[in-house]
Amino acid sequence: MKGAFQIARIFDIPVKIHWSFILIFVWIGSIAYQNSDRFNTDQFIWLSIGVFALFTCVLMHEFGHALTARHFGIGTRDIVLLPIGGVAMLNKLPNKPFQEFLVALAGPLVNLGISMVSMIYILFLSDEKQSDIYQWMVHLGNPDGNFYIEHITSIDQFFIGLILLNLGVAIFNLLPAFPMDGGRIFRALLSMRMKRVSATRIATYLGQLLALILFIFSIIQFNFLAAFVSVFVFVTAMNEYRAIKQEYVLDHFSVQQIFRPEYTEIYETDGLDFALSKSEESKEKQFLVFDQWHNIKGSLGPEELKPLKKKSLVTSVGQIMQKGYEALLPEDPLKEAFYQLYTNKRGIMPVMVKGKLVGVLDEETLFQFLDYQIRKMR
Ligand SMILES: [Zn+2]
Repeated sequence: MKGAFQIARIFDIPVKIHWSFILIFVWIGSIAYQNSDRFNTDQFIWLSIGVFALFTCVLMHEFGHALTARHFGIGTRDIVLLPIGGVAMLNKLPNKPFQEFLVALAGPLVNLGISMVSMIYILFLSDEKQSDIYQWMVHLGNPDGNFYIEHITSIDQFFIGLILLNLGVAIFNLLPAFPMDGGRIFRALLSMRMKRVSATRIATYLGQLLALILFIFSIIQFNFLAAFVSVFVFVTAMNEYRAIKQEYVLDHFSVQQIFRPEYTEIYETDGLDFALSKSEESKEKQFLVFDQWHNIKGSLGPEELKPLKKKSLVTSVGQIMQKGYEALLPEDPLKEAFYQLYTNKRGIMPVMVKGKLVGVLDEETLFQFLDYQIRKMR
């Protein structure tokens, strides 16, 4: 994620914090400032401890996902803390629906666990104190309750906060809408009965319906934070569905079905004007580069050609091409091609049978095909 920097490495997973996290400190500062007349240092310290505890809980929630995924052999690239929560970036989705179910459930279970453990603290308080806490909670937000709060220490309040916040985080995350864990749990349950793509479609529509309802209510109530969250949920649900459809296409098609047997050849000794004119006049944007004995030496695409207008010292294709190549087999799944072309940023790859060049596959062809197939799936 852009704008996030690493603050720690826990269980060998980088923990990052997003710059927008500063907003939290601004928020604490503004609360302290607005209430400066009745806000003492003690309360300020407790508020800071509370925020710190909340994000420790969020972090533990994410580690719930990450460590469960690790149990099934799936790594986590990083965990990013945002002001609105955390994100554990798993390297891939578990293949088995039951594993996905457990990975998704592990997060909210961590919060329920923290809640339960905090309740033990309350259970050890005197009966008198417990009844004060009960009365205080019943009268929460009601001036009558102020009578009881005097008997409740900051530490008691801290544990009550921990219980309520973790319950809140668990319940919010169990809502059956992407990107909440509940959406994933719901999808995993559906996946046990149908294809993951169909399960995702249903889970996405439900998520978007909930987001829409939340949006309408939040606009009526002028709650713009809730409105923002609902838009976020709506868009994330859409992206999740697209990602799953893409994965389906990548799994179900092979290089054979889309590679181009015809392509323009460029030689490393060719002048740049020649290469530029080729890329402008033909539909092809990516080329393989050969030497005089017709061995592949590298590739050339807009990435290499773009900065050329400035560099007049460069005279031949060989000087600017991306050197080396990685070949595909016709029977390779598109997933492999996607990994090389997109993740490893190769613009074009030769397709070979027994060491003989039979065609090429470039990123544009792949992305157009993906787009077309994804749209066809509704
Ligand atoms: Zn979660």
